[in-house]
Amino acid sequence: MKKRKSLQISLFFILFALSFLLMVQPAKAWNIHPLFMHPVLFSMPEVKNSKPVTAKSLKTFLTEEEQGLVKLLIQEEEWAQNNLEWYMPRPDTQVFKATGDGGDIVQRFVQAIRINPDFRIQLYLQLLPGDDRKGRSPISKNEITFLKEEDLEYLNSTTFVALKEGEDVTPLEVVVSATDEPDLGIDVGLYSDNSTRFGKTYGFGTQAFGNPNLDYGSQAPFHMGFYHESKILYAFAGFLKETYPEYRIHLFKTLAEFAFRRGQDYWGWRFMGWGLHYLGDLSQPYHTTVFPGTSTTKVLWINVLAMAGFPGAKNDAVQILSNRHIVLERFQQEIFQRAYRQSSPSFPIFKILKSPANIPAYKDSFPREKLARKSNAMAAELNDIITNSAPHKFISDPKFEFGKYKEAGQIIENIKKSKGQEGVDSLVRMIGEAMKPLTVYGRSYVLDILKPGETTAKQ
Ligand SMILES: [Zn+2]
Repeated sequence: MKKRKSLQISLFFILFALSFLLMVQPAKAWNIHPLFMHPVLFSMPEVKNSKPVTAKSLKTFLTEEEQGLVKLLIQEEEWAQNNLEWYMPRPDTQVFKATGDGGDIVQRFVQAIRINPDFRIQLYLQLLPGDDRKGRSPISKNEITFLKEEDLEYLNSTTFVALKEGEDVTPLEVVVSATDEPDLGIDVGLYSDNSTRFGKTYGFGTQAFGNPNLDYGSQAPFHMGFYHESKILYAFAGFLKETYPEYRIHLFKTLAEFAFRRGQDYWGWRFMGWGLHYLGDLSQPYHTTVFPGTSTTKVLWINVLAMAGFPGAKNDAVQILSNRHIVLERFQQEIFQRAYRQSSPSFPIFKILKSPANIPAYKDSFPREKLARKSNAMAAELNDIITNSAPHKFISDPKFEFGKYKEAGQIIENIKKSKGQEGVDSLVRMIGEAMKPLTVYGRSYVLDILKPGETTAKQ
């Protein structure tokens, strides 16, 4: 009898988890990371004044550094196993071994760091609005990423240019461009239930939350960090802790430091940019908070109702959450792109991002304890501001799907029409507030990678 009861309880928790996991709606955190990382990195003399570096393909870099990378990746795996509570160890089949075979070296490396092998690690730059191409040839976004057109529509006005192996390029250009790469497919399809040929061998198990059947859905646990939710939510949905941004942040920092130590500065800056992406994601309240502005009791209740055969409240809540998240992203993208096109140095968020700050020595706990803690703490307030600033239809109508809205690209005008300039200004204030910790801890991450003795980077 007792056994049957405990089985029933376990079954309840499993069904609850299955029902709950799709409530987490991933998107891209902030859209187009270079838009806000450029001002932060431009204001750092250690980055801005560094001498040009020589572009080098990943294959050449790996071929030159194969032996050293073997040891480095073993140490990195040990660090991850010892420091990350939910880390799923890398299977022995994925270990990077020095074989001297240049034919499959990129594939062997990609498998060892467990990123999507279809992600095209090309020599290229992603430019900012108004950037000079400097005679470089433009390339299509489809040459950079395998993601589907419907997931890339937000990049339609972004220019990509090709770099040639051996070409000089500034560190600022390399690192800024690289901050967007993790949203271009690196973490897509890595789980065993993602129907990819590699997901079954990578050892991450089944996807903890998010939609395993959608590209952006499958990258969710790598770009979100729910470290500061309530104990009761974890009791029901412990899988929310199974996230990987800290793994990526540490891995790419380790690779960047290694590259600089070896005089491979181009790859030092590029790996640094990859790591900075995840710090940026954790500064976004929707990436550190499951349901901003909704009490835990309500979240649990609507999930129980859905399990009992009444999914209406849950579906509505998920649609509204998704709409608010996308409204915030689209607004952030548009307001930044407009500021670049109008070259407005007075744009308040530029001022925040460029402001000097006291930079503490970097610690591995910063992503969780500084960035995610702050963004989680401001999630409810942000939710209020979005609710009060955007047109009612966008953020409170569950029948409306903002992602499919034809005029999604005119969100500033829509907000202005509906709530006036004050609606726009309050959202700008809130985004600036959310990005403040990134100016401190992002710089701290960069300086730690560049610290004397760790790098041969010359200024
Ligand atoms: Zn991301």
